Amino acid sequence: MDIHPEKIVLAKGTPEIWPVPGDDEVVIVPLGGIGEIGMNMTFYGHKGRWIGVDAGVGFPSDEEDRERGVRATIVDPLSLEPILDRLDGFFITHAHEDHIGAIPFLWPRYLNCPIYCTPFAAGLISIKLEEHADLEDVDIRKFAVGERLTHSVFDIEAIAMTHSIPEPVALAIRACDGVIVHTGDWKMEPHPILGTDMDIRRLTEIGMNERVLAIVGDSTNAERIEGMTTEASVKRAMRHIMNESTGAVVVCCFASNIPRIHAIAEEAFASGRKVAIAGRSMVNAEAVANECGLMNALPYFLADFMHLEGLDQREKALICTGSQGEPRAILGRIARGRRNLPAFGPGDTVVISAKAIPGNEPAINECIELLRSRGVRVITGEDFVGEEKWPVHVTGHATQDEIRTLYSILKPLAVVAVHGTQEGMVEHALVASELSSVSHAIVPVAGSVIRVGAAGTKDITVQGAVPFSVGEVMD
Ligand SMILES: [Zn+2]
Ligand SMILES: [Zn+2]
Repeated sequence: MDIHPEKIVLAKGTPEIWPVPGDDEVVIVPLGGIGEIGMNMTFYGHKGRWIGVDAGVGFPSDEEDRERGVRATIVDPLSLEPILDRLDGFFITHAHEDHIGAIPFLWPRYLNCPIYCTPFAAGLISIKLEEHADLEDVDIRKFAVGERLTHSVFDIEAIAMTHSIPEPVALAIRACDGVIVHTGDWKMEPHPILGTDMDIRRLTEIGMNERVLAIVGDSTNAERIEGMTTEASVKRAMRHIMNESTGAVVVCCFASNIPRIHAIAEEAFASGRKVAIAGRSMVNAEAVANECGLMNALPYFLADFMHLEGLDQREKALICTGSQGEPRAILGRIARGRRNLPAFGPGDTVVISAKAIPGNEPAINECIELLRSRGVRVITGEDFVGEEKWPVHVTGHATQDEIRTLYSILKPLAVVAVHGTQEGMVEHALVASELSSVSHAIVPVAGSVIRVGAAGTKDITVQGAVPFSVGEVMD
């Protein structure tokens, strides 16, 4: 298939006010996650009303900002003032920080509309709000993966996707004799090791029987051409490491990557090890996953990671936080030989089963050097192990072929590239332009006002951007 650059629409940032959405149109306004990974927040307007999708934090990549103590960035709630009395709710696609992290800074102080999410996301959001002592004042409403519900003037269906966290959903928003599919973060994972399959059957039905006016889609890996990767291959890597290592094994990964944690634990148990989990966010995520019935029948984890002490090194496995080199997370503290943590040294292995969020490389490298100076063998997320070169980490986002496959199923008229760097969004739009159904492959700016309407292709417009500013969350 050939790319069609003439279909690419590069949005401009000409100032625009928040429009009043008409009855025969859906207005799409991506505010955050545009030109950067993080801070995702997109608005959909119809019949005068609005809903938001996701409320994430961004991660300061600028060294100066970090030194000033900026912990995270959020969409400044004052930017939402013009639509506050018409904002009926938020829908959450999944529980990653770049999709839910802003919630405790926005609710209930600035926003009071209900938050719709899956049970797993509800569990993690509740913990965040509890830490801010605001849980009772926030209206969290759960939906099941696969459920279709109406709220205000919106008709929304949550469709199962696969991603590096439980219960990721795409949102199918129906209006104007058509449907808009907001993919959320996704990848194709044909036989997920935990949780439900991506609902290809439902997506195919929609593509065949309905008119997909637009896809608003994840651009994270749109520049990547390599084929599909699977969590099952990471599980094989873990089996190899657990079996081959003659000492203790410590594996760190993202706290909410429950399928990964489950796979690591399963292989550790199978190799005859006792397993502990350490790090507050990981312990919380595991507890929520357990409550949601996602942990299947695993043997018990040790109640306290200090119970590893006293075992032979060969019997020890620890799954923990700290994959980004954070000095205060468990791995960072182990690397610094802090007290009240099990000690690791020559013969032991540390596996960093994650990739670096841009900007974190120096901290991760420092952590690796500290571990190596203790004689610990370190395997990183870039590494492959065993004869068949199993990957220690795989991405949770779709690469080009997966994007082509999904879009050829859904046959959208327009594609709006979100959740990516500028390069990623342009590459995403180019891939989308190959599809014969696509007339507009849109690269928005933050705040772009994108309209789609019942008349289809000739009703698609991109004009200006609503004003918006970034708020900083300090340490
Ligand atoms: Zn994301
Ligand atoms: Zn995600």
